[in-house]
Amino acid sequence: MILRPLLYGIVGRALTEGVAEVHAYDLKNYGIGKKRQVDDRPYGGGPGMVLMCAPLFAAVEDVRRYNSGPVVLMSAQGVKLTQNLVKELAGRQALVIVCGRYEGVDQRFIEKMVDMEISIGDYILSGGEPAAVVLLDSIIRTLPGVVGNAQSLEYDSFANQPLLGYPQYTRPANFRGMRVPDVLLSGDHKAIKKWRELKAIELTRKRRPDLVK
Ligand code: SAH
Repeated sequence: MILRPLLYGIVGRALTEGVAEVHAYDLKNYGIGKKRQVDDRPYGGGPGMVLMCAPLFAAVEDVRRYNSGPVVLMSAQGVKLTQNLVKELAGRQALVIVCGRYEGVDQRFIEKMVDMEISIGDYILSGGEPAAVVLLDSIIRTLPGVVGNAQSLEYDSFANQPLLGYPQYTRPANFRGMRVPDVLLSGDHKAIKKWRELKAIELTRKRRPDLVK
């Protein structure tokens, strides 16, 4: 679930070229007893299962032998992932990312071992793995040399200002009678820049008024 989705496109290339490394560890390998148990019923009752301390501590302590980065837990209770946080995490040498399952992880693990809890949005996944893939993809694509045209990062939504991206068009200039805005065909770079800024502001106002204070 972690590695396969990262094998494609520019992120996949970054990994095969060694710009970044991702190692996935199976919590089951740190499970207890013959059945490699990793979960148990919650104290206090209620539905579902909770990931136990012992396997989580053992796994993180093992990974820590090669990776001294901060421990991030993917969690719906975490701080919401933003491009600013992506930028901050991209500056770290290494990260240890922990994915929950079931009803989540024992609170004592969070208090003792976790430096930061990160949520990818206000909805619930069945496990932290897709969230970890989101986090890794967003970080790896910002690393130097990963996105071919470094400028393309600068023009992304949220890159420098809290604005959404402007609309994009490519050939043909006329498709089934739908024409590309004239200004984009004009070759007037100043006018194009202005049009794009305007469109970005317009769209942000309409869709994300919360970003325009
Ligand atoms: N009972 C928990 C949900 C557990 S979901 C609650 O109410 O918050 C199982 C696991 O999926 C979590 O431990 C977490 O690792 C992951 N997860 C679920 N939603 C997530 C989100 N929005 N962002 C990041 N991780 C999430």
